[in-house]
Amino acid sequence: MITKIATLGSHTALNILRGAKDEGFETLLIASKKRSFYSRFNVADKIMYVDNMGEFLAQKQNTFGKDSVVVPHGSFISYLSIDFIEKEFNVPLFGNKFMFRWESDRNLENEWLKGAKIHTPKVFDDPSEIDRLAIVKHFGAKGGRGYFLARDYNDFKKKSSGITGEYQIQEYVIGVPMYFHFFYSPLDREVELLSIDRRYETNVDSMMRIPADDQKELGIAPSYVVVGNFPLVIRESMLEDVFDMGEKVVKMSQKIDDKGLIGPFCLETICTPDLEIVAFEISARIVAGTNPFIPSSPYTYLKYGKDISCGRRIAMEIKKAIESDSLEEVTT
Ligand code: ADP
Repeated sequence: MITKIATLGSHTALNILRGAKDEGFETLLIASKKRSFYSRFNVADKIMYVDNMGEFLAQKQNTFGKDSVVVPHGSFISYLSIDFIEKEFNVPLFGNKFMFRWESDRNLENEWLKGAKIHTPKVFDDPSEIDRLAIVKHFGAKGGRGYFLARDYNDFKKKSSGITGEYQIQEYVIGVPMYFHFFYSPLDREVELLSIDRRYETNVDSMMRIPADDQKELGIAPSYVVVGNFPLVIRESMLEDVFDMGEKVVKMSQKIDDKGLIGPFCLETICTPDLEIVAFEISARIVAGTNPFIPSSPYTYLKYGKDISCGRRIAMEIKKAIESDSLEEVTT
């Protein structure tokens, strides 16, 4: 009998555990010893401190017990290999872990978004094809550190000397970033929009505070390291396009894997001056951009008439699945 929601101490742990408690679950947090701040918040019934998270998850899964569902987040995925998660992680995970491979590999991700037939940036297979402003992303780059913009092949050659390994060259879409947090409920067969955020990225978000002439002199290379998130709402008339995009991505996920997306997912987009929403990345799990929406977001409040965060929405789905004896529909 599932009575407990567990997660790891990072990313959206506070959000997940608060939501779990609000829905009446017991909560368990596995945290690294350096993160004692978790005990300052009243969200975990039990905190287990470990020395090495990767090792713990690989060797001590029985700690979770038979009464737990684990909610994975961005850090969970970075602690373990996708192979390990797919084949050896035995505790029920909320969501579809078989979609993680598709969000983690830029080529598969591109196949998914393209297959969904939503707007995506052009991808240049070879640097010699660059015919407009492009952003070069190498696969290993953490937080967009080391990404660079190139206007054409010559510019690419000048800036690419440090690149090793695989990279993807995307058209740089001019517009504003908007990150849409969706939730697909297999129980209700419905795509919900939970919330929207934009990120606070250092140093790109500080560039415009420095006059262009000084920027040139200083030769600052932009980085996109996320340190925070702002809440957003979208022009109401654009909501139809937003739901359409979310639904197409879910449909495509069901072609990729029988279960398809389950629970929270996020489309990272740029909104152009022509009001086109161009998706350049997808996350197949809860994202940190949902954190400003504790306890609620405008969209969840509109739908439910009460305060619902992403963490709580997850717990609601788990609860409903337990009550209807269909836990296998929302876990993998
Ligand atoms: P990470 O993989 O580290 O999350 P992203 O791929 O999200 O990095 O890119 C970092 C930032 O770069 C984004 O938040 C966005 O501001 C910008 N960006 C990424 N791709 C594009 C694009 N195709 N067009 C315009 N801006 C982009």
